[in-house]
Amino acid sequence: MARKNTIDWQLAPAPESTDHFKLKEQYELFINGKWQKPKSGKYFDTINPANEQKLARIAEAGEADVDAAVKAARKAYDTVWSRMPAAERGKYIYRIARLLQEKARQFAVVESMDGGKPIRESRDFDIPVAAAHFFYYAGWADKLAYAFPGKSVAPLGVAGQIVPWNFPLLMAAWKIAPALACGNTVVLKPAETTPLTALLLAELIQEAELPDGVVNIVTGAGATGAAIVNHPDINKIAFTGSTAVGKLIQRATAGTGKKLTLELGGKAPNIIFADATIDQAVEGIINGIYFNQGHVCCAGSRLYVEESVHDEVVRKLKHRMKSLVVGDPLDKNTDIGAINSKEQLGTINKYIKLGQQEGADMYQSACDLPGKGFWCRPTLFTNVAQSARITQEEIFGPVLAIQTFRTMEEALQKANNTPYGLSAGVWTDKGSKIFNLTTKLRAGVVWANTFNKFDPTSPFGGYKESGYGREGGVHGLGAYLNLN
Ligand code: NAD
Repeated sequence: MARKNTIDWQLAPAPESTDHFKLKEQYELFINGKWQKPKSGKYFDTINPANEQKLARIAEAGEADVDAAVKAARKAYDTVWSRMPAAERGKYIYRIARLLQEKARQFAVVESMDGGKPIRESRDFDIPVAAAHFFYYAGWADKLAYAFPGKSVAPLGVAGQIVPWNFPLLMAAWKIAPALACGNTVVLKPAETTPLTALLLAELIQEAELPDGVVNIVTGAGATGAAIVNHPDINKIAFTGSTAVGKLIQRATAGTGKKLTLELGGKAPNIIFADATIDQAVEGIINGIYFNQGHVCCAGSRLYVEESVHDEVVRKLKHRMKSLVVGDPLDKNTDIGAINSKEQLGTINKYIKLGQQEGADMYQSACDLPGKGFWCRPTLFTNVAQSARITQEEIFGPVLAIQTFRTMEEALQKANNTPYGLSAGVWTDKGSKIFNLTTKLRAGVVWANTFNKFDPTSPFGGYKESGYGREGGVHGLGAYLNLN
């Protein structure tokens, strides 16, 4: 597969091997601690988006399967998990964390094969940070009373959790770890295009000997997710995904008494002032939008550059884009892997066309793309209007829209002017500008002179149509507890 970039040097192939594990041909549903065939009798294929080859057959859970999973979770909650001493719960969660570290290589390879993301990303970010979440929340399990002084804490019951395809294992960890630490049991559904690492996690949970029914993993698409949302015996829904589906879930849960947290889409602005260290900022912009194919809810997909340094920033961005390696996700030199699905590639290409029709100037690196699979060249647009759809709407691909500003007030107005508010970045030499902007940017996370940095101790979540509720840190515990 191509490893070429468009400047005059090439890297030797450095593929990660896949011979240290074997995927099953078919995965069933993980309900009540056992692998169960779907009552629906239905299966679907999960494919490798880098070569369109089938990886495994996956069970599709129908309403009856979801009901069995919820019943198992309820029984485990009532009879075992909520009654267990909190320190014991913590031990199980530590065990999951340690096993995940032991099997990190296999998880990273499978994540890249199923999702298309570069192995560097899954190996250095997704898997270690997922393990870190289990370690972090394991530590909280017997200290919940200290997290919320003066309040009594009690678990909610059964949590239904639905996650997207861009960080499949990490999003599962964000949800399962705090839920278990707080004494809840879980029914989790991974996305239909990336179910494999959640299923490997189910195997690992079996190996960790968690009591049956504490974690149930059901696979399927939107209908399976809807069956979880609508199940009457679920106490809490935690959803990460698109704003459109988040709104459906909000309507479906209104008036039911189910607690709800929503982590939805984003259209993050990066603001570069003229006094910033430009080379560092350019690297941060590249990292924020192109690595992981722009499949990041908090991707820095809008760039606001102070007018006096616009030409320099764009020139340096284009130069850096030429050296980005697009290709085999399993190659350790790859910067940009495969787009997750044919459907998502179609959406990205639609927006690239739209940007041109809207009158913006497009630049794409001229790199070779592999023949099979789903690929997109890193793309940027200049001369973009604030009202343009490529400025306002989430593309979820490696596409950057660039505008200029003259004053801080203008930068702020433009940055806040979308329906989203998940994250933002500020690049400047002046601490005063950072403090001024961080209080006024309507975004759940604001990074200063860096971008896309995550840590289990720090809460993450959105404003406006990016959702509500926080995951991570102490805030993430609050979402799984009744506090009185
Ligand atoms: P999606 O909303 O299409 O799907 C997300 C999950 O919801 C999948 O598991 C899907 O099967 C399920 N689902 C689909 N329809 C459903 C329904 N009617 N009821 C219940 N579940 C349903 O999103 P996606 O395309 O998988 O993921 C991309 C989106 O996720 C982007 O908008 C991105 O910004 C967002 N995202 C947000 C965060 C965050 O933390 N805010 C993190 C990652 C991704």
